[in-house]
This record gives sequence, structure tokens and C-alpha cells, in this order.
Amino acid sequence: MKALVKTENAPGLTLTRVKRPEVGHNDVLIKIKKTAICGTDIHIWNWDEWAQKTIPWPIQVGHEYVGEIVEIGQEVRGFQIGDRVSGEGHITCGFCRNCRAGRRHLCRNTVGVGVNREGAFAEYLVIPAFNAFKIPDDISDDLAAIFDPFGNATHTALSFNLVGEDVLITGAGPIGIMAAAIAKHVGARNVVITDVNEYRLSLAVKMGVTKAVNIAKESLPEVMSSLGMTEGFDVGLEMSGVPQAFSSMLDAMNHGGKIAMLGIQPANCQIDWTQVIFKGLEIKGIYGREMFETWYKMVSMLQSGLDLSPMITHHFPVESYAEGFEIMRSGNSGKVILDWA
Ligand code: NAD
Ligand code: ZN
Repeated sequence: MKALVKTENAPGLTLTRVKRPEVGHNDVLIKIKKTAICGTDIHIWNWDEWAQKTIPWPIQVGHEYVGEIVEIGQEVRGFQIGDRVSGEGHITCGFCRNCRAGRRHLCRNTVGVGVNREGAFAEYLVIPAFNAFKIPDDISDDLAAIFDPFGNATHTALSFNLVGEDVLITGAGPIGIMAAAIAKHVGARNVVITDVNEYRLSLAVKMGVTKAVNIAKESLPEVMSSLGMTEGFDVGLEMSGVPQAFSSMLDAMNHGGKIAMLGIQPANCQIDWTQVIFKGLEIKGIYGREMFETWYKMVSMLQSGLDLSPMITHHFPVESYAEGFEIMRSGNSGKVILDWA
């Protein structure tokens, strides 16, 4: 079958042919229809320090996808051939304390599809049936293909009550913008998003944010006073991974504010701890998606009118994958879809 593979100890990926995977007793075989390119795939393409340390090449990468079940292991219940599915990319052990308590997103033995084991950028993917997620008929293939990052946005945004709150999001990448749209959808008052990339800020405006701020040109205190905010933000969602952005968030929070952190900060990120302590801030780290409450909420938000379709800005046939990666690397895109079938 065709697959996009990291074939050598160097930047880039190669479209090549590999063996179709075998289906274990508890697995499903998915024929991939569409995949989306994630920031993680860009790290793997660039072959940066993290990727060189983490990715066991040769490996087929990718973890954002939609497809159809074409084969089922003999122990699997609850799925049928022909089911349209996406899948949770974190494969959990099932026997650690958190797994057994139903907190699968906190499994200490998580294995990542397309990171630690063969991924979805291929004609076929095998995953444990436990990780497959059926997509209702009223949700498009394009949106189903981005459930993984939409899930990161959902898990982060729904960490705290947003009804009537003023929300600051740092980083208008695809995940930050989706989180902003979710915050608006569930009833936040002001949703302010910051970035330094004009393309992404204008996409955020299209998605209905109250104010998209180019932090290189405008200051947050000025924006806050223009919105009539006299105290500070109630909730912060850090979605850039950039220390200056996190710092500006700490400055802009109200006392008693709550922060959910998805963006991966460098290990040596320094912050002003007095802001955290004297403001009594609550900070929560976010990893992946809750299994499967986040997935349930994604479906119900789309079915209750959340429109994420403007987030998908580019489509390419998989043969033009290099163009797809180039546009994603440029920062001048929302989500980029590669069509497999
Ligand atoms: P992305 O890189 O596309 O978006 C980050 C955005 O931050 C970019 O648009 C960038 O221009 C912007 N930015 C840079 N400097 C800034 C500044 N000073 N202030 C505000 N914004 C600034 O990433 P994404 O795919 O949207 O993911 C968001 C973050 O979440 C990344 O750090 C990613 O690594 C992380 N992530 C974490 C998890 C998890 O499970 N914790 C999962 C997926 C992604
Ligand atoms: Zn576990």
C-alpha cells in the first residue's frame, strides 16, 4: 500500500510502498480517506531535535484522519465493516491506576499513533478497536479528519466554565482558533486571541473572536480597556508554547483566574511566579483528549451549530503532499487536508 514514511535520518518524508498491516484480535483495519497535517508532523518533517530523539524511523507518520472500517478482529464488539471512523491517537495501557479509573488521558504508558507506532498517512491503518470513534452521518469527512486537534481545543477550552467569562487565548494556530470558536459557542463574553501572524489572526476573526490582537503591534492592556474590561481575564488558554505569550497572559489575568496550558513550553521557560501566587491563579496542564468524553462533546458541539468548516483552508491529493507540508510550514494556512481516496 501507499504510505508517507520517514525513510532516512534527514528532513522530509517519502511517499513509498509498504506492507499492509495485519489485524490483531482486538483491532480494526481502517481504509483511510482523508488525513490532516498536524504541527507534530511538521516537527517530524523538519527533523528537529525532538523528532530525532523520539521518532523510531523508518515509520509511517500521521494521526489526524477519517476512514472506513474494512476488517475487524475476532474479539471486537460494537463496530461493523463500513463504519465511518476517526480514532483517538493515544493508545493507552488499560491497566495502570489512571486507566483503570477511567482517566485514560492520564495513562503513564501512552503510545502515540504516527509517533511511536505506524501512523495514518497510508492507505490502511490498524488501531485497537477501543481507540476507534464512529462519526455520525451529519458530520463531513473534512471535519472528521481534524477531530484530533479539535479534541485538543475542546479538552482545553472545556476545562473551565466559560459561560459569561472573559477568555484570553495566546496563539492563533489551528488549535487556538478552534478553542476560541468553542469559547464563543458555549457562551463566553469576550474572547481575545493573540498571535504575531496576520493570516491566522484574520482566520480567527472569520471564526468569530471578539478581538484578534497582533501582539507585536498592540498591547493587551489597551485592548482590554477598549473592551471595557477593568479587572482582567477570567480564563486563559495558552496555545502558543511561547514563553513571552505565557508571561503576557499572567500579566492580563484577573485574581482567581484559571489557566489551561496546551502549548508545549521549553523546559527552561521562566515566569514571574509572584503573578501566580499573589493572584491565586489555578494552572492546569492539558495532554491529548479525554477518552471519550472530549469526543462526545466534539460531536455535540458540531450538532448544536459550532461551524469549524472555515478552519480547513487547503486540500491536496496525497501525491502533492510536499506542497501541503510547505503551506503548513509557511504558517499561512488553517488545516491542510491530504486526500487518499
Ligand atoms: P501552531 O504552531 O500552529 O500555533 C502556535 C501559534 O502561536 C502560531 O500561530 C504562532 O504564530 C503563535 N505565536 C508565536 N509567538 C507568539 C506570541 N508571542 N504570542 C502569541 N502567539 C504567538 O500550533 P497548534 O498546532 O495550533 O498547537 C498549539 C500548541 O499546542 C503548540 O505548542 C503545540 O505543540 C501544542 N500541542 C499540545 C498538545 C498537547 O497534548 N498538550 C497537543 C497538540 C498540540
Ligand atoms: Zn494506562
